[in-house]
Amino acid sequence: MMSESGNRFPQNILEAFGFFGDPDACIDFVASTRWPIGPKCPRCQGAEHSYLTTRRLWKCKACKRQFSVKVGTIFENSAVPLDKWLSSIWLVANIKDGVSSYELSWWIGVTQKSAWFVLHRIRLAAHVGEFDVFDRDVEVEETNFDDFMKVSIARSQLLLGDSDGFATLIKVLRDPEAAFARNQASDLLEQMSGRKFGYAPDRPVLENQAALKRIEDWWKNEGAHLKWNPQLHKFVL
Ligand SMILES: [Zn+2]
Repeated sequence: MMSESGNRFPQNILEAFGFFGDPDACIDFVASTRWPIGPKCPRCQGAEHSYLTTRRLWKCKACKRQFSVKVGTIFENSAVPLDKWLSSIWLVANIKDGVSSYELSWWIGVTQKSAWFVLHRIRLAAHVGEFDVFDRDVEVEETNFDDFMKVSIARSQLLLGDSDGFATLIKVLRDPEAAFARNQASDLLEQMSGRKFGYAPDRPVLENQAALKRIEDWWKNEGAHLKWNPQLHKFVL
């Protein structure tokens, strides 16, 4: 069921309705983001498993344990279903002025308390740049949150073979406010493109104009022709 390229994060609200209404698409999305080269058992790291379609669970061949896509992520230990989690991430990333827990509770149909919990966890994930959980509780400044979310979504897009993720990264690299997120965006851009552009994330955006020009020229000339290569784990022409 894992498709490397078919399943990309929705680009507009109509796509979002279809995407989040399909539980398998949601699982597929999180699975291919977490495990780009295939699911791994959270208990023993085993890569051999069978998929129990009706229960939407994997069964590890080595330790016989069953695991869901939520285990070990920010989505674990909550009654909120995965489609609501992903809808929340989508709303947070796409509503420019930010989403309050009251608004979110109305949008996705959970209590305000649950919505607060969902927002809190999404902020933590955005700070670290991935869905997998970590043991420290990080306080995130509101101002940086949006940029981390953008990098996180760009990473998901790229891992699913959607080169539009590069456009998102370039926006972050141009943003003088996004000091910390620019670091992540620059690493991800070099890793996924296999190129070095000489962008120095620890220097102000103004001092990075030459590198930004190289990045934008590359994106303008080659962006439309890039293809995801699952073996090399990056985009190639
Ligand atoms: Zn196992």
